[in-house]
Amino acid sequence: MNEPQPIRPRPVLSELPAYAAGKPAAAVDGLVSYKLSSNENPYGPVPAVRAVLAEFTDFCRYPDPLSTALRERLGQHLDVSPQDIVTGAGSLGALTQIITTFAGAGPDGTQDEVIYAWRSFEAYPIVVRAAGARDVQVPLTADFRHDLDAMAAAITERTRVIILCTPNNPTGPALTGAEVEAFLAKVPQDVVVVLDEAYTEFITQPDAVDALSVYRRHDNVVVLRTFSKAHGLANLRVGYSVSHPHITQYLRVLATPFAVSSVAERAAIASLDHLDEVDERVARIVAERERVMTGLTELGWDVPDSQGNLVWLPLGERAPEFVEAAARQALAVRGFGTEGVRVTIGEEEANTRFLQLCADFPPTP
Ligand SMILES: *Cc1c(COP(=O)(O)O)cnc(C)c1O
Repeated sequence: MNEPQPIRPRPVLSELPAYAAGKPAAAVDGLVSYKLSSNENPYGPVPAVRAVLAEFTDFCRYPDPLSTALRERLGQHLDVSPQDIVTGAGSLGALTQIITTFAGAGPDGTQDEVIYAWRSFEAYPIVVRAAGARDVQVPLTADFRHDLDAMAAAITERTRVIILCTPNNPTGPALTGAEVEAFLAKVPQDVVVVLDEAYTEFITQPDAVDALSVYRRHDNVVVLRTFSKAHGLANLRVGYSVSHPHITQYLRVLATPFAVSSVAERAAIASLDHLDEVDERVARIVAERERVMTGLTELGWDVPDSQGNLVWLPLGERAPEFVEAAARQALAVRGFGTEGVRVTIGEEEANTRFLQLCADFPPTP
């Protein structure tokens, strides 16, 4: 008999960073614990969503693979053709469709390139490398924004996709419409540009990019949206992309069949049907973000502008120390090595405790 051969995964698996999901806070005596580590909506979905979940009965049936009802509802809501919308299991599912459709390794082994800013959303390197493509990470500027000039300069003939994350997770700044238009003027027509707008509902900056209007003007732009953040449906896994039919025709080929369950689809529709209540929750989070940002500034912290439901503390070497100090106050926050700490805007009491922690942890040692 032959020697047993070890099971071997594709070599690329040894090159993937592990996705470090935000953890819940460990219990501390006398303190309510708060999870400020995953940019979740602390107020959850609107009541109409809870009613949909309670009434749903079709668990034994497969969902509509095309999420037709949701795409039609979204089409109305966004004023785009439902044909231009492709749903996925979260916007991460939709992003995976885009990357695996347009970037990978060619038959001769040469790798396509995908450019994105870094630091940005930590799923990007995993999705890009898993597809067999090469990721090109362009460092953020000193004020934690995309360096669009450097990103344009990084384009080569192997570039297939560019991802812009606006507002940027984990640092917070949004791109302006003018910046994105000037950038697109330098991008070849056959390169797909993804605008990841996971936090778009939280934007208050008047000149922030309106990705849908960019998609209306540019054939090579794909807009990514999600119900996970503002709509408070992270656990139901529903997101989508918006792009023109010459792109969506390919995305549909590689979409995971039945990725969006019927219950998730109906919940998303119910949330869109009660948008005023969603907007109320978003307004509360934005007001809390402003309170936290103002508080931090008053305490002498220099943090980048945030247009999301998060703040970035550029603590460098002291980041791990801050994460531990937060844990002692029953706050789970998200440390990124020795770069910084991302803190989600949460319940009012959580934000107040976070500000107190920042008062006790001076910005300069
Ligand atoms: C949270 C997040 C997503 C995706 O979330 P889904 O739950 O998969 O929809 C995508 N992009 C960014 C930048 C995010 O922060």
